Amino acid sequence: MIITPFLRKNLFEPLILFKSRSPRLHYWRKLEKTQYYSRMRLEEIQWQRLERLWRFLWENNDFYRNKFLEAGLTEKSLQGPDDITKLPILTKEEVRNNNLISKGFQKGKLLHFKTGGSTGKALDIFLTEECSEIRHAYTRRHDRWAGWEPGEPVGAVWGNPKRPITFKQKIFNMLVQPKIFLDTMNITDEAVLEFAREWQSIKPSLLFGHAHSVFILCRKIKKLGITSIRPNAIISSSMMLIPHERSAIEQTFGVKVTDRYGCEEVGLIASECERHKGMHLNIEHLFIEFIKDDGTPANSGEYGRVIVTDLINFAMPFIRYQIEDVGIPSERTCACGRGLPLMEKVVGRTADFLVKKDGTMVAGISLIENSLTRYRGIDQMQIIQGCLDEIKLNIVPGRGYSAVTDQAVIRYFKQVFGDEINITIRKVSKIKPERSGKYRFSICKVQAF
Ligand SMILES: [Zn+2]
Repeated sequence: MIITPFLRKNLFEPLILFKSRSPRLHYWRKLEKTQYYSRMRLEEIQWQRLERLWRFLWENNDFYRNKFLEAGLTEKSLQGPDDITKLPILTKEEVRNNNLISKGFQKGKLLHFKTGGSTGKALDIFLTEECSEIRHAYTRRHDRWAGWEPGEPVGAVWGNPKRPITFKQKIFNMLVQPKIFLDTMNITDEAVLEFAREWQSIKPSLLFGHAHSVFILCRKIKKLGITSIRPNAIISSSMMLIPHERSAIEQTFGVKVTDRYGCEEVGLIASECERHKGMHLNIEHLFIEFIKDDGTPANSGEYGRVIVTDLINFAMPFIRYQIEDVGIPSERTCACGRGLPLMEKVVGRTADFLVKKDGTMVAGISLIENSLTRYRGIDQMQIIQGCLDEIKLNIVPGRGYSAVTDQAVIRYFKQVFGDEINITIRKVSKIKPERSGKYRFSICKVQAF
């Protein structure tokens, strides 16, 4: 019997999920409808969930109850969505140092995972089975926006991938979601050739991965003359998608990249739709704010720290949680007709922003993009600002790189940061990923935001 995507979607997956009493498909079908609700109706759903959560916290969560009391708030203080801003922002530090678990939930009975900790700040996250099922459901909705359909195989370029090991996992992989992996910790010629062989045998329709890792795959494909990797859809996730890498990926595969944004603490936050004009915010499950450095909300088009309230994780609630990323909200509407509001893009982590002596923030990713497009011969670049006076650049030189390039880059950085800044350039053969498998191109060690 040949197991086709049609059989997986319409027979095996519903059967397996029914047997395990999973409500995933039920949630997903609902989400397919709500995405086309009007913005007003979606905000109404969001408000109802926020109100319910607020009441729940007051009665069932000592950590938040104390936070309410310290801020002079009660269960009746939330009269409208804007009132949530009366509650102080939640930091990673607080999450690590306090018990956020609500009454009635036991850690041992919850799903547990750790965040990657690529900033050196690993966190323990707990959620209910139901919350996890809802996350699966909306991820599925957003995967479809890229052009993938349930049941179709996936090729993932991922760090430390979780390959199926147990019999149950292998059966699931075969009957529901066939997946092959290229480990970003080991993108050698041999590994890419093996990935291409596997690709040919299961023919994934979706290529999924960290933005830069997919870009590296493109280079290898070109170098090795591989023609078998032909996805219908590409999703880039987990890190900034730099414009020149995006166009290189799109040229290689002849498919538009669907960029998305999320984090392990609260799940998928925003995703591009098939129009690729900004990212739709997942407001059914999250309340998302963009807050400027002075504490006021960012307007459409302005930089703001991303602050998220998870409306569905009652076991370990994240309320006004500062993810440490900076994004740009948007008031534009999308021609696709979805009522979910847009954000323009994620500009990077707060730690990706470099700092000038006068305190001005500079998006490291823009400096890299400018350097790569203006000056000849730079293959890759990583910026590390150790202190206000010093910036180190790790550069992977390409064809045409020379001492003139060095001088031009130094001149450019001095234009931006002032003549006093000390710039050192180190030539490296490659930029290494972090332990999580993600890449960081701009690292600022100066306390900024
Ligand atoms: Zn859209």
